[in-house]
Amino acid sequence: EVDWFSLASILFLLMFAPLIVYYFIMSCDQYQCSLINPLIDLLTGKKHLSDIWDKTPTLTYRAAGIYTLWVAFQVFLYVFIPDFCHKFLPGYIGGLQEGAVTPAGVVNKYQINGLQAWIITHALWFANAYYFHFFSPTIIFDNWIPLLWCANILGYAVSTFAMIKGYFFPTDAKDCKFTGNFFYDYMMGIEFNPRLGKWFDFKLFFNGRPGIVAWTLINLSYAAKQQELYGQVTDSMILVNVLQGIYVLDFFWNETWYLKTIDICHDHFGWYLGWGDCVWLPYLYTLQGLYLVYHPVQLGTANTIGILMLGFIGYYIFRTTNHQKDLFRRTNGNCKIWGKKPEYIECSYMSVDGTKYYSKLLTSGFWGWARHFNYTGDLMGSLAYCLACGFEHFLPYFYIIFMAILLTHRCIRDEHRCFSKYGKDWKRYTAAVPYRLVPGIF
Ligand code: NDP
Repeated sequence: EVDWFSLASILFLLMFAPLIVYYFIMSCDQYQCSLINPLIDLLTGKKHLSDIWDKTPTLTYRAAGIYTLWVAFQVFLYVFIPDFCHKFLPGYIGGLQEGAVTPAGVVNKYQINGLQAWIITHALWFANAYYFHFFSPTIIFDNWIPLLWCANILGYAVSTFAMIKGYFFPTDAKDCKFTGNFFYDYMMGIEFNPRLGKWFDFKLFFNGRPGIVAWTLINLSYAAKQQELYGQVTDSMILVNVLQGIYVLDFFWNETWYLKTIDICHDHFGWYLGWGDCVWLPYLYTLQGLYLVYHPVQLGTANTIGILMLGFIGYYIFRTTNHQKDLFRRTNGNCKIWGKKPEYIECSYMSVDGTKYYSKLLTSGFWGWARHFNYTGDLMGSLAYCLACGFEHFLPYFYIIFMAILLTHRCIRDEHRCFSKYGKDWKRYTAAVPYRLVPGIF
């Protein structure tokens, strides 16, 4: 059943999320990233909505061409080039991998080749932008708003297709979820793991590519724009490129681990993931770099080192916490966490066909400090990106506010699901690890 609060939030997001993205990007394009000045202009009658809209770049053939080529190339890399990185990169797990057991008891196979796609794409980017000069490295920045319309078209098309597919030709009918509420189903998705053919998995493709492969390219394009406009790239821009670059590379290095995260393991594929991955992620996760094109902040050595440290500590916590759980689950508890045998709570649950499964919840390492300390590390890293932009404007701080809301909501959503899954065992776990994000506080 869909409660009224969820429904209201969904309707709000469906109506306003595209406008929020437009507002942020437009405010940079027309108001030097001030979020308040467009409002002041509108409220004082100095400008009308139509004035702002008329100044907004429209969809162009060039942007449509770039975007089509981009997505087609990512599909090609995903579907047709099996992973070779795992053959020569020690410690990297790629190639054919299995996902988690779905509620209907299905175990999907995935071709993990995201790192390879990232490397090939970036090698081609540098070769074409700096050696062959086929295009300018500022190409993304220069077409940013026309590309926004293309990303929206793809985001809506794929979400609508996923909805229709869920009704008429689902990949696995037993793993579909119908609430009967059209808006909820459109937003949160019907099918669990929609696929086309054997290998084109919507969730893995749209979550990782085209958005996350693009993330580092978008930042590089912003850095190139700074160079073009001011004859130099600021330390803040380098910092944002480095910290977000580490996050992106970490994502692809650990793509197999990603098969066990909530997005792939528990979320169904609807507008939330489809549109979110095509539009929200590439446009709003890169706001810091965009802001720095308009406001080239120089941080100085001390600030740069301080922010870098915060970013590194956040990343360390994020990665170590995720690694501890992954190691613990992969080895079924036969491992060491911080040099000791792991402590855990044994639990059981039923799948829809009534089969009983057993699982374990780790209560030592960072998992003994808080139930989602990985989110805490993520939030520290996110704060570092924002701090790199100084304190003159609110816009770059949207990211940390959004991440705090996203991860807190995710935490509550996940705990609700885990309680339904594990029942009294989950209660034992929350008694053993009482805090969610910050020990002693929340
Ligand atoms: P988690 O990796 O924390 O996974 C939660 C799941 O892990 C639970 O549903 C449960 O699944 C299992 N679990 C919970 N507690 C324990 C425990 N003590 N021991 C063993 N298993 C446990 O969450 P996410 O998948 O959301 O996040 C993964 C990472 O991705 C995080 O670091 C997060 O910060 C990051 N992330 C980043 C986003 C971004 O936009 N930048 C968005 C979302 C996530 P089960 O049913 O298997 O028991």
